Amino acid sequence: MNYSVAIDGPAGAGKSTMARRLAQAISFVYVDTGAIYRAVAYDAIRKGVDTKNPEAVASILQQLHLQLHWSAQGVQQVYLADEPITDALRLPAVSAAASQVSAIAAVRDFLLETQRAVARENNVVMDGRDIGTVVLPHADVKIFLSASAEVRAKRRWLELQAAGRTDSFEAVLQEMNERDERDRNRPIAPLRPADDAILLDTSHLTLEQSIEALLKIVQEKLKR
Ligand code: C5P
Repeated sequence: MNYSVAIDGPAGAGKSTMARRLAQAISFVYVDTGAIYRAVAYDAIRKGVDTKNPEAVASILQQLHLQLHWSAQGVQQVYLADEPITDALRLPAVSAAASQVSAIAAVRDFLLETQRAVARENNVVMDGRDIGTVVLPHADVKIFLSASAEVRAKRRWLELQAAGRTDSFEAVLQEMNERDERDRNRPIAPLRPADDAILLDTSHLTLEQSIEALLKIVQEKLKR
């Protein structure tokens, strides 16, 4: 039996950085499920498919050939067929499109088994929006990470700046609010804490403090 830690929360709550650091600390595999929704969006965009059209998006899924690999440092790499696409997935246009394709039932059904298969075969820290509620409802530990919208947008803006982008803070905040609104209000697998999730608000914590708090919760839970 493998162990699983589910980490859900809105955009920019620090899920991926914290989940990756947690996974390193406890030697689990880190699975970034947002990246697989982003991969579908990326493929749709480059094929000129309308990311809001369920039938059109569903029609590209069978040819997707999505593959996940992990580097020696535990960093998840996404491939479509043999093409590495990880670096292109964080662009704002892909973020918005990912949240559109992720509301489509055929997309969620298609990606569900991919996510569960990784968790069957490995001890995982998996982050996303519906990991504790839908993908791994029996996860050993469930965390719901949050922070105020301003704090989250600031973090994402700094990340984009570091990558050499010139997006304004206001644009980043607006995109993030629109995405969260869509993720929270969609009928299938909406963003919400599982009933048995532990809430962790990182608005007033530094990254190191947040990671420390997360590690403490997870170590306590896995001990039992
Ligand atoms: O986590 P990340 O920001 O990379 O996710 C991109 C988008 O993918 C989210 O805004 C959400 O719409 C979707 N997503 C999802 N379910 C997940 C992970 C991501 O619907 N488990």
